[in-house]
Amino acid sequence: MRCPSCGNIESKVVDSRPSEDGTAIRRRRECLDCGRRFTTYERLGDNPLIVIKTDGSSEAYDRQKLMRGLLTACAKRPISPEQIASLIDSIETELRNASRNEIRSKELGDMALARLAKLDDVAYVRFASVYKDFQNVEEFASALEGLRL
Ligand SMILES: [Zn+2]
Repeated sequence: MRCPSCGNIESKVVDSRPSEDGTAIRRRRECLDCGRRFTTYERLGDNPLIVIKTDGSSEAYDRQKLMRGLLTACAKRPISPEQIASLIDSIETELRNASRNEIRSKELGDMALARLAKLDDVAYVRFASVYKDFQNVEEFASALEGLRL
């Protein structure tokens, strides 16, 4: 992203949020050279991410689908939609920074879980019950033990 003032290509992201229509990420950037702040819109479709499902099939990463899953897990919990959006931004940023273009659905779920665990224990367990296909009570119990209840 080139600074509109001095042309320097190095900038840091100072704020990041989905655009109003949800198809792009709006980032506020600050030039590392001259300090000028500017806004960029990065369309999610520019660098498509493929999600590989447990049965081996794949599908395009769908932010809205992840959002729906997280909203369901967070229903009636003290978590705002903005917190969920920034949780997803954080996952997308990590994947982007790692130049990942594919990810296993389980890994994506684990990334969401690691972040949910810091937000809300109940939402974590709800989401875990969907994403990790618990085989038995012991597995479920050991997931619970991972929480600081
Ligand atoms: Zn600059």
